[in-house]
Amino acid sequence: MQTFFTDEQLKVPALARSNEILRSCVHCGFCTATCPTYQVLGDELDSPRGRIYLIKEMLESGRAADERTVKHLDRCLSCLSCMTTCPSGVHYMHLIDHARAHVEATYKRPFTDRALRFVLAKVLPYPMRFRLAILLAKAGRPFARLIPDARVQAMLDMVPKQVPPVSRNDDPQSFAPVGARKMRVALMTGCAQKALNTDINDATIRLLRRLGCEVVVPKGMGCCGALTHHMGREAEAHGFAAANIRAFMAEVKGEGLDAIVINTSGCGTTVKDYGHMFRTEALAEEAKLVAGLACDISELLVRIGLPEGAAPVRAGGMRVAYHAACSLQHGQQVKSAPKDLLKRVGFEVVEPADSHLCCGSAGTYNLLQPEISRELKARKVRTLEAKGPDVIAAGNIGCMMQIGSGTGVPVVHTVELLDWATGGPVPAALG
Ligand code: SF4
Ligand code: SF4
Repeated sequence: MQTFFTDEQLKVPALARSNEILRSCVHCGFCTATCPTYQVLGDELDSPRGRIYLIKEMLESGRAADERTVKHLDRCLSCLSCMTTCPSGVHYMHLIDHARAHVEATYKRPFTDRALRFVLAKVLPYPMRFRLAILLAKAGRPFARLIPDARVQAMLDMVPKQVPPVSRNDDPQSFAPVGARKMRVALMTGCAQKALNTDINDATIRLLRRLGCEVVVPKGMGCCGALTHHMGREAEAHGFAAANIRAFMAEVKGEGLDAIVINTSGCGTTVKDYGHMFRTEALAEEAKLVAGLACDISELLVRIGLPEGAAPVRAGGMRVAYHAACSLQHGQQVKSAPKDLLKRVGFEVVEPADSHLCCGSAGTYNLLQPEISRELKARKVRTLEAKGPDVIAAGNIGCMMQIGSGTGVPVVHTVELLDWATGGPVPAALG
């Protein structure tokens, strides 16, 4: 694609990077076929190619974002299915991230929009605030139901029935391995996940210890920055990321780390991109190192190796429908590891039709774009249930909450099944 940035514009690193990305697009349109929003809405401007044109026009002109551009960019899930499909290697993720930051800096959203985004940015990344918000939402639900805003209603629909007690496992500490130490790994405990489901980190710690890992929960670690990053709130996202980089580096410089393990794939995609996020900043080297150590729990388990056929005694014959989170399959290109691990320990693994399509969760997307999100959820639940599973497994808390709110089939994290199959307790959802 031809671009017309001026020499002055290309001196700005973010514009230079976007120019590089735009030039790699040959506008073939292959990506439209696998874009969930194009499938639902059928509008070229709600496809990757359409959005690329809108972004090019917005950035090249240097003008403030307009309503039409914002509408179509806001509808993008950042699912990155287009990146998997693109034959030219267009790095859509960096392009949309830059575009979102430009929108945030130059566009004045309507008041309700700004207020909603502000609340999400100030609540979701903080587990205690999030817990409090859930309790308040439960108490005020009858009154809040009167607010005629689909997004407020979507938030109420997503409020979980129960909030687990705080898990002390999420506090900064070190868990000794069972037997001889083979590895020393840091666990990223997440933010929203700590408020919504404490079983995932508990299962991860149990499993890794059993496999000979010392598991460290570093001090000073918090949200990975993804939630605010995807809203274009760059300064906040960088603040979160910088705190994490410092927390991990303290461990690297101390006793050393073999890996930084992440069990929320949405966070994993962002942490693996810290090198890019900080490429022009003082923390560039450290960010690159942290990004290089980051891995999804399934990647680490493949490296360590799981005992074969461990499940049959308790879970033999159990049919698991595996839902591939977009951030894992498209963002990190981790596709077979979770399925291979589940099969290895004895589960029967099935996959839904159109497994490349997003479930509509996508960070805060289900709260900000409830109509499209609901349609994608219905499609995903339909295709998963069609496989007649005993349980649905996913590697991302957002997908688990989204799918769980639309089906009666239990939904668990992949690591909970792997922990169970290798000596851990039955996942709570399977009761
Ligand atoms: S598939 Fe890639 S090269 Fe083709 S239009 Fe989409 S982004 Fe551009
Ligand atoms: S990230 Fe997903 S929703 Fe956005 S353009 Fe790409 S495929 Fe479409």
